[in-house]
Amino acid sequence: MQEMKHEQVVFCNDPHTGLMAMIAIHNTVLGPALGGTRMWVYPNENDALIDVLRLSRGMTYKAAISGLNLGGGKAVIIGDSRTLKSEALMRRFGGFVDSLGGKYITAEDVGMTTRDMEYIHMETDHVVGIPESLGGGGDPSPVTAYGVYMGMKAAAKKAYGSDSLSGKKVVVQGAGNVGGYLVDLLMKEDAKVSIADIFEDKLNNITSKHSSVTVIDPHLVDDHDMDIYAPCALGATLNDTSIPKLKCQIVAGAANNQLAEEDRHGQMLLDRGIIYAPDFLINAGGLINCYSELEGYNQERAMNHAENIYETTSNVLDKSASDKVSAQTVAKQMAEDRIEQIAGIHRSL
Ligand code: NAD
Repeated sequence: MQEMKHEQVVFCNDPHTGLMAMIAIHNTVLGPALGGTRMWVYPNENDALIDVLRLSRGMTYKAAISGLNLGGGKAVIIGDSRTLKSEALMRRFGGFVDSLGGKYITAEDVGMTTRDMEYIHMETDHVVGIPESLGGGGDPSPVTAYGVYMGMKAAAKKAYGSDSLSGKKVVVQGAGNVGGYLVDLLMKEDAKVSIADIFEDKLNNITSKHSSVTVIDPHLVDDHDMDIYAPCALGATLNDTSIPKLKCQIVAGAANNQLAEEDRHGQMLLDRGIIYAPDFLINAGGLINCYSELEGYNQERAMNHAENIYETTSNVLDKSASDKVSAQTVAKQMAEDRIEQIAGIHRSL
């Protein structure tokens, strides 16, 4: 907590329902800490703690650089989402969220569904990502994909002098929710899109809609001849093995924590002349969607807000090029500067 500067970590235990959870509040200078709950089978409690500490810090950066009045937080529930879930467990977790009095607002993440959010909502108002039928924002993926697309276009402008993606060879790794919406946007612009996934049905969902999209082996993404690599599956795909192999000018995708080691791998991309659009900046559409829910949900407003990702990405990439510092470092510094400035206002009030 001291190393990463967290404000508070809460451990939740309820033997009756089998709930074991952790809620990490990283920073609330800009507003309440908002971040999803991840349900995952962690090998041990220490791994769960490290995950929740890292993820909550990432949410602080994401909210700050997106101009949102939100802090960073995240929760993890330890256990198998396919077997441990029950109404009672989710409602008990909702009770723990409620006990923080609005300092932490939860949402969906890996292993959680809008149905779970409904149960949590029975015990607390401090939850977003509830279904549209209940006044929520529903699936945030279309807004996330739009923000990634904006970030990709800003990176294209930097690399090619034009932000048109027409004719550009784009590999979308991960044909899931965000990947699917991203392909729709890329196809509208006549990009040459290839997709990779470990599940056939996910690939078919996209190829049945877009017959010119080609499929590549998920193990051969790093070796593929492409202009733009869009990681939209899991994190840490930018690492010591992949970066030296990459044949692209741009990396811009939705996955969280793409750089296995933030500083070192961010620098490796810069040294190789590959333009990297920082993940927490360009995948903020989902958080922007949640924020809109707090104000009374309006998807058009969320989309308009996500459009700002273009300008912020341009500014980050310009500074990265002029200062010869990785885009990840520049983006983190911008987020920290905003927090420091607002903290300054609060101190002087
Ligand atoms: P998803 O689960 O719908 O899609 C992920 C896809 O990646 C799945 O189809 C899965 O089969 C595939 N995949 C897994 N391992 C793979 C591999 N090794 N190679 C190729 N494909 C692989 O998830 P999503 O909601 O589309 O999110 C994608 C990424 O974006 C995640 O990292 C998520 O954390 C991040 N993200 C999502 C949102 C959102 O709004 N959904 C917001 C911010 C960040």
